[in-house]
Amino acid sequence: MPYLEEIWERKWVTNNGVFHRQLERQLCDYLGVEHLSLFSNGTLALITALQALKITGEVITTPFSFVATTHALHWNGIKPVFADIDPVSLNLAPDKIEAAITPQTTALLPVHVYANPCDVEQIERIADTYGLKVIYDAAHAFGVRIRDRSILEFGDMSVLSFHGTKVFNTFEGGAIICRDEKTKRRIDNLKNFGFVNETTVVAPGINGKMNEVQAAFGLLQLQHMDQILKQRADIDTRYRNALHDVPGLTMHDIPDYCTRNYAYFPVLITPGFGATRDEVYEALRAEQIAARRYFYPLISEFPTYRGLPSATSQNLPVASAVSRQVLCLPIFPAMEESVQRRIIDIVRQCGARGR
Ligand SMILES: *Cc1c(COP(=O)(O)O)cnc(C)c1O
Repeated sequence: MPYLEEIWERKWVTNNGVFHRQLERQLCDYLGVEHLSLFSNGTLALITALQALKITGEVITTPFSFVATTHALHWNGIKPVFADIDPVSLNLAPDKIEAAITPQTTALLPVHVYANPCDVEQIERIADTYGLKVIYDAAHAFGVRIRDRSILEFGDMSVLSFHGTKVFNTFEGGAIICRDEKTKRRIDNLKNFGFVNETTVVAPGINGKMNEVQAAFGLLQLQHMDQILKQRADIDTRYRNALHDVPGLTMHDIPDYCTRNYAYFPVLITPGFGATRDEVYEALRAEQIAARRYFYPLISEFPTYRGLPSATSQNLPVASAVSRQVLCLPIFPAMEESVQRRIIDIVRQCGARGR
């Protein structure tokens, strides 16, 4: 509440206000990055990142993501080219990226799905070899570090989402992380209609500005991140201990050279489990437990995109199979242990009944 009163008294409610600048600085410190520009949401940040780099032609991306990843390409008049994912990381497979490159390819748009880092070294090698830009959709990857370096430092730009469902949120919000001050200034102009000063517009920009109320909630939440991550880690550990011996149920492992943010708890329900993924999903739903089938259907299966040459299931066998097996179990800081135990019991019983 003191934050809201401060905004009210200052009468400076948006357009790079005091809280906005504070949050940009504090996020840079917290995340270990140098140049960050806040946005009103992650989708506008993705769209603006592609604009800032003047990406055109074809961009290679993953079908195993939230639909906004591909929409951002479409809104820029870019042709999405889907490539298959790696069965372990569930991120774009570098050899499949390489096989999808054509003379029209200008950039790669990989996603660190479930906050599990992409193969950033291989992706960098491919980008350097073929002269491509790399924009990471890091919507899930808040705070993730790889060998003590922020995952957001890889590629030309990374984009965060601060939507209510994400680990760190400003209700709606997002950010672009870029490599230098000059690029940040350009992004800041683009998110404010292209204005560089009171009377000059240098590009057809958009309104992507984060307002002071959003920024204030960000500042508040940032103070509690340690506790939030600790609570999520405890829930993650309890799931792992309770489910590691279930036949046919695979948990998503993250390599130990990177830190985790416990944003999601995906499991794969494979044929040896005794029930299908949808049967487990329905059994949980019947008990008012909202597990999510992230990401099903694949982006390439939606009517808007299924006509693309790269959208066929023959081109995407791993993504197609995983999309039918994956289930994200509920994980949020306030989850009670008794609720979690019920979820675990329902999942275990589903499998046991069928085996
Ligand atoms: C949440 C999300 C987005 C979109 O972010 P918004 O802030 O909701 O616009 C983009 N990509 C992925 C992978 C996401 O999970």
